Amino acid sequence: MAGSRERHFDREARDGAVGDAEGDLPDAGATISRTLVRLKISEILKTGPSFSFEFFPPRDEKMEAVLEQTLRELEQLSPSYVSVTYGAGGTTRERTHDLVVGIDRDTTMTAMAHLTCAAHTRAELVEIVTRYGDAGIDNILALGGDPPKDLDLPPGELRYAIELVHLIREVGDFSVGVAAHPEPHPRSPSRESDRRHSAEKLRAADFAITQFFFDAEHYFELVESLGRLGVDKPVIAGIMPATSLASIKRMAEMQGSEFPQWLADKLHAVGDDPAAVRRVGIGEATKLCATLLEGGAPGLHFYTLNRSTATREIYENLGLGRAG
Ligand code: FAD
Repeated sequence: MAGSRERHFDREARDGAVGDAEGDLPDAGATISRTLVRLKISEILKTGPSFSFEFFPPRDEKMEAVLEQTLRELEQLSPSYVSVTYGAGGTTRERTHDLVVGIDRDTTMTAMAHLTCAAHTRAELVEIVTRYGDAGIDNILALGGDPPKDLDLPPGELRYAIELVHLIREVGDFSVGVAAHPEPHPRSPSRESDRRHSAEKLRAADFAITQFFFDAEHYFELVESLGRLGVDKPVIAGIMPATSLASIKRMAEMQGSEFPQWLADKLHAVGDDPAAVRRVGIGEATKLCATLLEGGAPGLHFYTLNRSTATREIYENLGLGRAG
């Protein structure tokens, strides 16, 4: 199959999460052996709406255990693909690599590596991308990145994410995604300038995933603007359910996303009851997802924060799978 990768897949049977070719589950501890055909994300997106999950590399053993459990639970939802973030400036260089390769090797899920160009030399980026190719990873999300200011890192040889898209294309035959910003990127001098640069970047890439947002109009306006600029590549909507008032406000501020008053009011109305805040947040995220899918969004990308419950609940609300 052109552009796809067929490989043999062996691993220890784990809680019946995958079956063998005949559909019978082997005894626990037995080795499952079967052939997996990995499609690139650009090909997966041609098969209908995608549902994907984002993780970050854990910092310690406790967080590792949480992520392992989350991966096991979310694998059962058969996501179209999953992605792993990269600490801008290279702060998670090895951990991102190891997690991406580990997911690809040990689970049934297709993995995508995030990579940011800030503070890296061209040679470093070529080395990182080459290593992914050698490990059989087909999908990279090419990003600018905002390195932590306190690290005082050099600016890097590439200035914008589009240059990283071109570099990745030069190194190998990857499916390349980019970031898009429904509410224009905070460093942009104007909405028009951000839309123009996003269109140019997406022309060179295969698809985009958006920053999270809470009003569907922001997403539809972005897609319309890109269309007017002649770009109709898939723009996957980034979804961050508001499950805690304080943390979602902080994250929205960091990303330059508007935290709308109507949502703040709804959450404040039940503010004393964390379980109710969560319920309202999940309910609103579900409505947003449904509106986006009805309006033709080619996929939803869930910022999971390495937990599974919110994503599973939204999945179930949308009728996509069991939260169980
Ligand atoms: P760019 O495309 O380089 O754009 C940055 C700014 O420059 C924009 O204002 C743009 O309009 C402008 N610009 C672009 N090209 C030009 C040009 N030629 N001339 C003038 N101006 C230009 N960050 C991480 O550190 N690690 C991650 O793993 C990570 N994952 C992310 C995943 C998603 C889905 C998203 C949406 C964001 C992610 N980010 C991540 C955050 C991202 O790195 C920041 O938003 C960053 O500030 C911008 O990245 P970008 O790829 O959009 O950059």
